[in-house]
Order: sequence, then structure tokens, then C-alpha cells
Amino acid sequence: MADADLDLLQTALKHHWSWVPSKKAKGYVNAFFAAQRRGTTITAKVVGNHGTYTVSIQVEPQGVRSACSCYIGKHGHCHHCEALALTFLAAPSAFKAVKTKQAKDVHQLTDIRAYLDGVTLDALLTQLKTKGMTQKAFAEQIGMNTRHLAAIKASELHHHYFNELGATKLACLWVLEHLGKAKGKA
Ligand SMILES: [Zn+2]
Repeated sequence: MADADLDLLQTALKHHWSWVPSKKAKGYVNAFFAAQRRGTTITAKVVGNHGTYTVSIQVEPQGVRSACSCYIGKHGHCHHCEALALTFLAAPSAFKAVKTKQAKDVHQLTDIRAYLDGVTLDALLTQLKTKGMTQKAFAEQIGMNTRHLAAIKASELHHHYFNELGATKLACLWVLEHLGKAKGKA
């Protein structure tokens, strides 16, 4: 299972990026730390010109999605994303395979972080939507401005994190658990 994810990542990345790094990317290849792989998503940090950036590449059925927290990296077109791809292709095993924690794996307070890290707010809001609950309706019920919720969601995808991110995810998970099932079965 894990190997299938690894193969998928390698094939997609080879297809998406050139083997020869651009001039700007070159200095960042193999300069990453805290490198992790979760399924078909890789994440790592790198020290850039204006601080430490979080860089990620995700292979989805729709294609490759990359993002970086640097000021030009919002849509994943920066040299840090390119460098991350090349770093991964050179040594995939240097990326620590992390298993996503499921709700049933959460037994104590210190498990929550790993649980929340395994899912994006975007994915949770999509799940709510499939249960017939819109982002707007959810925001209203937890007393949050709809635009603020949208900003928290978008920021996470670009590796900028609002303080409310974890709490908002927990609220989504609560709603999904308590109201999602009834609606799904009906
Ligand atoms: Zn970048």
C-alpha cells in the first residue's frame, strides 16, 4: 500500500518537473529538513531568503498540487517546490513516512495534533458539503464570519496557519460525527 503511494509520487514528480534544476532551485536541492511523507503528500521545510518556508507537493487523481509559504509560492510555482521534487526523487527514503491518525486512534490529548494534521480544513468542509451542510451554514452556527472561515481554509493550503485552524477543524469533526451520520443514512 505504502509502496504504491511511493511509486505514484515518483512517477508524477518525474513527469511534472525536469531532472535538471533551474538556477534558482539548485541551491535548495537537498537543503530541506523535517521531510515527511503522508500517503502521496510530501512536506518539508527549507530556509530561504526571508525565513523558513514550508513546502509541499501532493499527488491527487486530478494531478500534482504544490504549495510553498514563500511570498511567490502560493500556487506552487516557486523554485522551492521544484527543489523539493528533486530532493525527493534523489532520496525518497529520507522522507519519514507518517501514518495519519484516525479518530479511533485518538486516546489522549497529545494525539489530537497528529489527528488534525492528517486532514485539511478544506477536506473537512468538503465532507460537510456532501452531507448537505454548506460552509456558510457551518460558519453561521459556530459564530464565525464566512469570509474568515474561507481565509483560514485557503491559508492552510498555502502553509500559513491561523490560530483558529485546529479549533475550526475540531468543530467540523464534531459536526461530522454528530450530525453527519444521521444525514448520510437518511
Ligand atoms: Zn517557495
